Amino acid sequence: MQTISIVVPCYNEEENVRDFYDELMKNEPFFAENELVPEIIYVDDGSSDGTVAEVKKLAAKDGHVHLISFSRNFGKEAGIFAGLSRSTGDYVALMDADLQDPPALLPEMFGYIRDGYDSVATRRVSRKGEPPIRSFFARQFYKLINRMSKTEIVDGARDYRLMTRQFVDSVLSMGEYNRFTKGIFSWVGFETKWLEYENIERTKGETKWSFWKLFIYAIDGIVAFTTAPLAIASFLGVLFCVLAFVLIVVTIIRKLVFGDPTSGWPSLVCIISLVSGVQLFCIGIIGQYMSKTYMEVKNRPIYLVKEEF
Ligand code: UDP
Ligand code: MG
Repeated sequence: MQTISIVVPCYNEEENVRDFYDELMKNEPFFAENELVPEIIYVDDGSSDGTVAEVKKLAAKDGHVHLISFSRNFGKEAGIFAGLSRSTGDYVALMDADLQDPPALLPEMFGYIRDGYDSVATRRVSRKGEPPIRSFFARQFYKLINRMSKTEIVDGARDYRLMTRQFVDSVLSMGEYNRFTKGIFSWVGFETKWLEYENIERTKGETKWSFWKLFIYAIDGIVAFTTAPLAIASFLGVLFCVLAFVLIVVTIIRKLVFGDPTSGWPSLVCIISLVSGVQLFCIGIIGQYMSKTYMEVKNRPIYLVKEEF
């Protein structure tokens, strides 16, 4: 017998815990057929509703259900890390509690693992049900980060994935504090098979992502997987030095040859504003990397557990 771990990050998902379990258990014949024992790990990310109580109810009935409950909300990335660390399975599946990642896809995914793939990932080909403005910015983000980073970040990639133990251990070996899982999955390499499906809308509850949260997440991703913005800052610095030099030469020649003193302070104000703007922008970029380094150096735990079984 082999074990398949199912890691489910949950934040205020009391309505979904039960439904998810029922949906997952429709795979029971598939588990039996392939001699797989499920190990279901709900990671409660500091929910303030009845998520923990719901998981306990399930665990009372089924010994395959486990819980890791955080002391507060640490974010989905921390939940993923905790769940993967806790998992003991030969295969590990990661999926959302809201049934946007259909458990019915597991048998197909497992087939590819059997064929020799190290991980089977999913991406949605449509973004239906999402506000158009959000889709637009999401697309721009993927374009931008893929142009800047050597690590490929697939547009529309979901976190839904089935992995081998070796793949999971590689992901866990990256103990960084600022975790951008989409990038980490790609960075570790190995053979990944991509499955595509239409976006499925959340059945119950609400999305935990506001536009602002997504924006911060996008910046985290860029800072975590490319230092290109630092190079851009240096490039801008050089560009403005050259520009300044040309202006100086032009001013001197104009004075000497044409006896024409440079007039007016409006032009000066414009130049000063522009240059100080660029300087602040570049300092901001450096600041982003500094702050991430600061958090990394502090070496704080990625999550704290309140209760676990
Ligand atoms: N989630 C989490 N911690 C958070 C936010 C979300 O564990 O701080 C979980 C959430 O319960 C869900 C999954 O991450 O199972 C995806 O969240 P959501 O459905 O809100 O994101 P979306 O599908 O809209 O991208
Ligand atoms: Mg969702």
